[in-house]
Amino acid sequence: MPHDSIKEELIGLLRDSREQASFLGELGVENIALGSSSTQNAAAPPAITAAAEAAIRMAPPANQQPALQVPRRQTSPASPPSADSLFSEAATTAPSLAKSSETLEQIWTDIGECTRCGLCEGRTQVVNTHGNRNARLMFVGEAPGADEDAQGKPFVGRAGQLLTKMIEAMGMKRENVIIGNVNRCRPPGNRQPTLEEAAICRPFLFREIAAIQPEVIVVMGNTALRNLLEEREGISRVRGKFRDFRGIKVMPTFHPAYLLRDPSKKRETWEDLKMVRDFLDGTPSRQD
Ligand code: SF4
Repeated sequence: MPHDSIKEELIGLLRDSREQASFLGELGVENIALGSSSTQNAAAPPAITAAAEAAIRMAPPANQQPALQVPRRQTSPASPPSADSLFSEAATTAPSLAKSSETLEQIWTDIGECTRCGLCEGRTQVVNTHGNRNARLMFVGEAPGADEDAQGKPFVGRAGQLLTKMIEAMGMKRENVIIGNVNRCRPPGNRQPTLEEAAICRPFLFREIAAIQPEVIVVMGNTALRNLLEEREGISRVRGKFRDFRGIKVMPTFHPAYLLRDPSKKRETWEDLKMVRDFLDGTPSRQD
């Protein structure tokens, strides 16, 4: 190998290792065995429930699904959709999501004091997507927790603080990105939103994505992955590879709340985030 190539490779390795050390240090991770295969199968994320799996199996193939459906405001809780309509808007093989002329304010006005699903009953407030509406990078999680419900912003609790550190480790600031959830109301006891609840709420997220047109979406955790990408596999299997959501690159990775429970997954998460960072670094901004 020519001398310059070796030098460049070493510089790259050094940079990666410094960044990773910085990321892990920021996260307060100590004594992590980098590259250890012993972390590969530790504490897998919670499995999809049998009922959810049954509903997913009943969903029609993506190529038979209708176009994006947009819920309009109503004043009483909506009836749950049938299982075979649960993924009607989430087809990843559907045409690209065209840039929408809607503003986020228009979408949020439409959401209003939403009562479209049963999660309205236990929430303090609706937690809408928050951040830079010209962002190239969007993060999507599952649903608000107690801190988010109290403050009205996504990812402001412990998991949110970890997410901020993850973003900063990528060389960005939280103000550079936009962050949201598939469901906007806190589920009681922080349970997972049901497939029905997610199916009712996610069209609002799709409308925001159409309005923002991020270049990459990082989808965090099993529930968000399943509801955004119609993905049946768990996050451990699909993380680390770019997927497509209607013409937008999506990187699945672990949810920060899961990383708080299982810090051994931080290394893999960092690998995923580096891929996102490298893609954005190597791609001219659409706004340039
Ligand atoms: S979770 Fe979504 S659909 Fe359900 S009440 Fe809240 S905003 Fe409405």
